[in-house]
Amino acid sequence: MKPFFVDLHTHSTASDGTCSPSDLIRLANREGVSICALTDHDTLSGLDEAQLAAKSLNMTFVRGCEISTKCHLGSVHILGLWLPRGKTRLAELMKVLEGERHNRMERNLAMLQKLNMLGIAVRFEELEALACNAVIGRPHFAQLLVQKGVVANFQEAFRLYLGKLGAAYVERMQMPPQQAVAILKRCGALVSLAHPGLIACSHDELKALTASLKDYGLDALEVFHSSHDAQEVSFLHGMAERLGLAVTGGSDFHGSHKPHIRLGHVQYGSDGKNRISRTIYEALIKYRRTGKM
Ligand code: AMP
Ligand code: ZN
Ligand code: FE
Ligand code: FE
Repeated sequence: MKPFFVDLHTHSTASDGTCSPSDLIRLANREGVSICALTDHDTLSGLDEAQLAAKSLNMTFVRGCEISTKCHLGSVHILGLWLPRGKTRLAELMKVLEGERHNRMERNLAMLQKLNMLGIAVRFEELEALACNAVIGRPHFAQLLVQKGVVANFQEAFRLYLGKLGAAYVERMQMPPQQAVAILKRCGALVSLAHPGLIACSHDELKALTASLKDYGLDALEVFHSSHDAQEVSFLHGMAERLGLAVTGGSDFHGSHKPHIRLGHVQYGSDGKNRISRTIYEALIKYRRTGKM
């Protein structure tokens, strides 16, 4: 039997990835992935196209999204997986995501203004043209700055201008993670704490945050992720087990915006190498059916 791999965290051109939703699914297929989620930032607009492509390739598709939130520990990302299709069940989530996109727009305009004040001629129309109809994020700014020769590469764009210490950085209004968990739960999603290893905090602080999110309905921890090494995976596995949380995993693929990340691959996977195996998916299906691990 062909190997059968899982990727439950990916981004397309609907947000700040560089592959269209259908190209991403075709690439996943070529990478040996047969169960794939699309989890764009703050939008569900790529899901139908990706789902159609997955159907034509006999792949299992998981409808998802990722919401960026903020708390005393800094930036915390929440994944909603197995989103329903019905407009009624999604009404609250869609309204909230629209608000997030509005906050992004305000931040983007403020960042453009800062760049202009620094003597860098970038216009909103250029950013829009680059992003097409996507949710515009800082990677689009970075791409534009590279294209214009203002910086040599993405890293420099973030270091000099777009990162937290960059000259054009502007904070974005973001909800607390508890709110994102509650909203996703209310629409019936399976909710996972994304890349916990990237949260800038101690293990004890992470345990406290996770326990608090569980009170709001958090289902799972993203144990497997491109940024998690074997040690992190082992710690997170233990924490998920102790707290009675399910386990998810995904590459966080963004196409050429993050060229070191390969679709369907992580640094340390459930197969002991760099893949997420079907057992992870099967455990999630069982959890969804029974509510138990
Ligand atoms: P935004 O959602 O607009 O705040 O942008 C966040 C995106 O920028 C995420 O995909 C991050 O991974 C990416 N990002 C943040 N810092 C850096 C960095 N130093 N280098 C490259 N990408 C970054
Ligand atoms: Zn992203
Ligand atoms: Fe994220
Ligand atoms: Fe992501």
